[in-house]
Amino acid sequence: MTNAEYEKMLEVFALTKNFIRQQIDLGFSEAYTLRKPKTITTKKDEIFVTTSLEDFHQQIKNCTKCRLGFTRTKFVFGVGNPEAKLIFIGEGPGREEDLQGEPFVGAAGKLLDKMLNAIDLTRKEVYIANMVKCRPPENRDPAPDEIGTCMPYLLQQIKMIQPQIICALGRISAQALLETKNPLNQLRGKLHDFMGIKFMVTYHPAALLRYISYKKFAWEDLKFLRKEYDKLTEP
Ligand code: URA
Repeated sequence: MTNAEYEKMLEVFALTKNFIRQQIDLGFSEAYTLRKPKTITTKKDEIFVTTSLEDFHQQIKNCTKCRLGFTRTKFVFGVGNPEAKLIFIGEGPGREEDLQGEPFVGAAGKLLDKMLNAIDLTRKEVYIANMVKCRPPENRDPAPDEIGTCMPYLLQQIKMIQPQIICALGRISAQALLETKNPLNQLRGKLHDFMGIKFMVTYHPAALLRYISYKKFAWEDLKFLRKEYDKLTEP
C-alpha cells in the first residue's frame, strides 16, 4: 500500500467513526453500532432504609459495586430540590462532574441551565441525576451492567422525590429507563409512562453542543415539557 492509499484509508476510518458517533449521539439507530448491545439487568426491588435523600447519599457514596467505583474521583449523587416535581436524568458524570461531585456542571451543564431558563425553571426547582453515579473513564458510554448495577440507586431517589414528570436527557437514559431499543427520534415528542410517572425524552445537551441544528427539536421538547409542567397539581 502506498503512503497516499494509507492516508486515504485513515481518512475513511475517521469519517466513518464520526458518522457512527453522530448517529449514536442523535439516537438514530442501534443498527449503526458495531457491537450488539447487551441487555440491562436491574435488581429493581432492592430495599433501602433511609430517612432523607442526604442520608441515602451518605449510605451509598463509597459504592464499589461496579468498576466505575474504582476509577471515579467523586461520587455524583444528584442535585436539586428533594421535593421536585420534575427530574432530569442524564447519562453519567463527565470530567468536571467527577471533580466537583455534582451533575451537569461542565459545558453540557451550562447548556442545560440555559434550557431550564428558557422554560422559566432553575436548577433549584428541579432535580438532576444520572443513570450512573460515577464517571465512565474517557467519557465512554456507561456499560449496560454498570447501568443495571446503579439503577436501584436512581429508582430509590425517584421513590423518595416522587416527581410527577421525568425527562430523560439523551438516548442512554431514555432507552435504559423505558427498557427499549427504539431510537431517540422515535421516543421524543410524546409522553411515556415510567412507574406511573409521566416520562419524556429529549436530546442530551452534549449532543446539542455538537449538532446545533437539533436545537430546534429540543426547543419543541422543552415547550412540550413546560406545558405538562403547567398542568401539574400541587402535591
Ligand atoms: N453528561 C451527563 O449525562 N451527565 C452529567 O452529569 C454531565 C454530562
